[in-house]
Amino acid sequence: MKKTIAILAGDGIGPEIINATLVVLERINKCFGHEIIPHVGLVGGDAYDKFGTHLPDETIELCQNSSAILFGAVGGSVNDSNNPRYKNVEKNVILGLRKKFDLFANLRPLKVMPVAIKKSPLKSNIIAGVDVLIVRELVSGIYFGPQRQYESVDGRVAEDTNRYSEMEIERILRVGFESAVRRRKKVTIVDKANVLETSRLWRAVTEIIKKEFSDVSVEYMYIDNAVMQLVSNPTGFDVIITDNMFGDIMSDLGGAVVGSIGLLPSASLNKQGFGMYEPVHGSAPDIAKKNIANPTAQILSLAMMLRYTFRLESEARVIEKAIVDAWIMGKKTKDLTSAGEPWVGTKEFAEVVSSLIDN
Ligand code: NAD
Repeated sequence: MKKTIAILAGDGIGPEIINATLVVLERINKCFGHEIIPHVGLVGGDAYDKFGTHLPDETIELCQNSSAILFGAVGGSVNDSNNPRYKNVEKNVILGLRKKFDLFANLRPLKVMPVAIKKSPLKSNIIAGVDVLIVRELVSGIYFGPQRQYESVDGRVAEDTNRYSEMEIERILRVGFESAVRRRKKVTIVDKANVLETSRLWRAVTEIIKKEFSDVSVEYMYIDNAVMQLVSNPTGFDVIITDNMFGDIMSDLGGAVVGSIGLLPSASLNKQGFGMYEPVHGSAPDIAKKNIANPTAQILSLAMMLRYTFRLESEARVIEKAIVDAWIMGKKTKDLTSAGEPWVGTKEFAEVVSSLIDN
């Protein structure tokens, strides 16, 4: 396969974990005879220094001419809140790219890795074997509906509008159902249909779409019950499909469940299969430039790109297996070890993973 991808490393640990991931990509190209060529673009602080904006036109053009985006992270430390290099950088870059490319489907796999089981705040018997895919609608709903504040006889009033069209619901449902077909064939629609009109429309559209996926079972669950189930019985889920706000809540809670933020990848896709692939975590300025960041979430984001944009399932699986094999060999980054246990750096971990990749 011959393709071009945009590499946007960003701030903090972004460049380190992206460089580690490019070592793995090089190995995949070599072993499987692909030419997936990375082209680097600027976002975040470095882009601001050079172009006076966090998301320059040059970077958008690079993305438009690429098949996918591999994204690191953006953002400064708490002391940077008034530094223009970082002010509103997340909003400018991440929301900017989501909107520009209509990345409506956010996929977040939550898989509990044996290496991180002890790091979870939950008991091992509850989280062992958790393998959930959260499919969140990303460009509509209450975060994007009309908002306003006005004066009234009772003082100020604020309004946020939760709005979904049938088209927007249908396309995210399809992504979720199609994912379920390739997994354990169970979909949970998380909503608040006892209260919200939008949720009732989600259910009505689900009743139509599910007929096309007769081997997938469907359950409906209210958000208040769903968050309880995610911490008390997480193995009960396969694919969760939900709206923008409920998905935000569910996926952050899910991140806490699996034990380490350095392990979680994500994909944000549009209708054409173009996607932005990035770790769930931020730019971790507290550990930047120390070669101690865990590159797993970034490397797994590359695996998701191969799976979802390029349909290279075998290559994605080879990467996922190489990571687990590296851990089995005792090669773990600092965040996954206990005090006194040996650990390897960001670069070294990527080199071990890469050496374990074979066709
Ligand atoms: P964070 O995710 O960057 O870090 C939280 C904690 O987890 C820190 O202690 C960090 O050291 C640790 N951590 C994160 N990733 C790690 C990794 N790969 N390996 C080992 N440890 C890791 O969240 P934060 O500290 O709240 O935010 C830092 C900056 O990142 C802020 O500017 C924030 O706005 C930004 N941010 C960006 C994104 C994004 O680019 N998508 C997402 C979240 C936060």
